[in-house]
Amino acid sequence: MASGDMTSSKENAIFPPGEAVHKAAYVSSMEQYHKMYKESVTDPEAFWMKIAKDFYFKEQHSGKFFDYNFNINKGPIYVKCMENASTNICYNCLDRHVKNGQGDVTAFYWEGNDPMDCTNITYKKLLDEVCKFSNVLKSLGVKKGDRVAIYMPMIIELVIAMLACARIGAIHSIVFAGFSAESLSSRILDAECDILLTADGVYRGSKLIHLKQIADEAINLCKDKHKVSTCITVRHLTDNSFSDDVSDRPGKRPCSKVQVPWNSGVDKWWHILMEGASTECEPEWLKSEEPLFILYTSGSTGKPKGILHHVTGYMLYAATTHKYTFDYHAGDIYFCTADIGWITGHTYITYGPLLNGATSVLFEGIPLFPDPSRYWSIVDKYQVSKFYTAPTAVRSLMKFGDDPVKKYKRSSLQVLGTVGEPINPEAWMWYHKVIGNSNCTIVDTFWQTETGGHVLTPLPGCTPTKPGSATFPFFGIVPAVLSENGEEVEGPGDGYLVFKQPWPGMMRTIYGDQKRFEGTYFKRFPGYYVPGDGCYRDDDGYYWITGRIDDMINVSGHLLSTAEVESVLIEHPSVAEAAVVGKPHSIKGEALYCFVTLVDGIEFTPELVKELKERVRHSIGPFCTPDYVQYAPGLPKTRSGKIMRRVLRNVARGNHDIGDVSTMADQSVVDVLFTNRPEQD
Ligand code: ATP
Ligand code: MG
Repeated sequence: MASGDMTSSKENAIFPPGEAVHKAAYVSSMEQYHKMYKESVTDPEAFWMKIAKDFYFKEQHSGKFFDYNFNINKGPIYVKCMENASTNICYNCLDRHVKNGQGDVTAFYWEGNDPMDCTNITYKKLLDEVCKFSNVLKSLGVKKGDRVAIYMPMIIELVIAMLACARIGAIHSIVFAGFSAESLSSRILDAECDILLTADGVYRGSKLIHLKQIADEAINLCKDKHKVSTCITVRHLTDNSFSDDVSDRPGKRPCSKVQVPWNSGVDKWWHILMEGASTECEPEWLKSEEPLFILYTSGSTGKPKGILHHVTGYMLYAATTHKYTFDYHAGDIYFCTADIGWITGHTYITYGPLLNGATSVLFEGIPLFPDPSRYWSIVDKYQVSKFYTAPTAVRSLMKFGDDPVKKYKRSSLQVLGTVGEPINPEAWMWYHKVIGNSNCTIVDTFWQTETGGHVLTPLPGCTPTKPGSATFPFFGIVPAVLSENGEEVEGPGDGYLVFKQPWPGMMRTIYGDQKRFEGTYFKRFPGYYVPGDGCYRDDDGYYWITGRIDDMINVSGHLLSTAEVESVLIEHPSVAEAAVVGKPHSIKGEALYCFVTLVDGIEFTPELVKELKERVRHSIGPFCTPDYVQYAPGLPKTRSGKIMRRVLRNVARGNHDIGDVSTMADQSVVDVLFTNRPEQD
């Protein structure tokens, strides 16, 4: 790959760790990081077995720590970790802390969509509820290895449901509750789930979503191929079945607004099943390499993949990454804004924090409701010290300027995390300066559903950060940069990001599709795990994710990354968001086609187009002056907030056949883009 250094001098600025987090950090110097890192990759067994000692295993580990094959030419790809041990992740999340006298610690502060609606739950209470629901599932015949589909909003019952599955060895498959009936049904079918868990409905902002209705449609859509025998519904909008006292929940809404169709052969109310269920439930002790959950990827690049994670490796990795990346200590209040329907929510709302005995905020709502200062009001309300969100949220809040942020103090904040897409240096700087008052560490965490946890990330107490760089590998991760023909690039340079050896939390396969697993991640460069992202390693060894390999653009023989061009566009004060794709060009091979969303109140004019073209030309080089700049009132995004460039490529080409868009949040933006296309040659 031939793109130049994507960092400009401004972006090469280095920021020291925030003072507060540095002082108390587990890892407070780069020397210490290097020492731990070295052990983690040269003697993974010694490194991880020290960590494993903090967890409860029913049967202890013996034999090799890792057993694996990464080379497709030598046979099937597999990874096994602590194979002979047995454990239960739910026990390690809950019982272990309760037995250690931490039962009264708050596990979650639940903050509803309505700012008046809140409650909390301790570790002990959570354990009781999980045991009760485990017994409910068992009474319905659910047993180890069965798949349970979960289509629930961000309520405590969602955490209870997933942990109950984990406790009895059932495999949960959580589907984000913003998906349509078709998307839900295809996931139910793919994993052949017999049971579906849902809620009556949920408010997202001011919009009421009739979840139960959608769940019914999904059951109906798959009924000829697969029968869902039981659907359990939480009465969320009208009642709160886990709380002893509901009178303190002013956000309760009248049930008449929620339509809850009922099929008595299939449907059961959660709160009725829970009545009288026992709070005692012996966990199912699972072998390390037995499955924990299936989770579908976001679908940014194509049909979602059902990623399968197993028990022990995922447990060790979720806990360790959460502890070190956020430098989590007892007393911290941690808030991850993701939805549990995504991997970020699995690892960094449920499993990682609970494994570390953390206190977290579980937020049901959206960042702009009732106004764009909602996150910061939550930060002040609970005195959040560690905060984790996505670049798309940062960019959407940036559009409203600094005032909504400055209404709140945010003085408790120490670490600000980001995940999901490359964060443009402009957004990074705003996050750092405005949100973080210039005294927090920004942790730009690169990882995937497939990796289970962070693989490239700063450690907040020691890593000097550069805006837009995910910095260095986490413990146990051995990255390399490969050229087009598979040679490892030494020193600075760019190419394909790959990983050379397994780490505990990596995926084990694509559920029911080992062939797609091997083809997607191990075929292109035998011997390596290939995540599909491009990256640049700079002179100081920092890693910069340049975007997806599939999205790279070849202009007159120069391979350009999307992040590189988009970051230049977004630096313009009028631009709020940008997405760049290639459009076939008879001479250049591909021409740059840029979509820009503007800051509130800015007009799209020919002068602006000229300025933007000039800016890219000046920053990157004359060869890559954009041919087209199109105004985009909105960009097509996955429901997890990622830009779908494959759809934009079709808009650029005028091709209305835009492929699988089941994961797109709002399809109407695409119609607008088709009608808005600038004059084409
Ligand atoms: P699909 O695999 O179905 O196309 P997806 O890749 O968006 O969807 P996820 O597992 O949710 O599904 O996202 C992982 C991807 O998100 C990474 O491969 C990378 O492209 C992007 N990503 C995540 N974090 C970062 C980050 N910090 N910097 C840059 N890119 C990131
Ligand atoms: Mg992916």
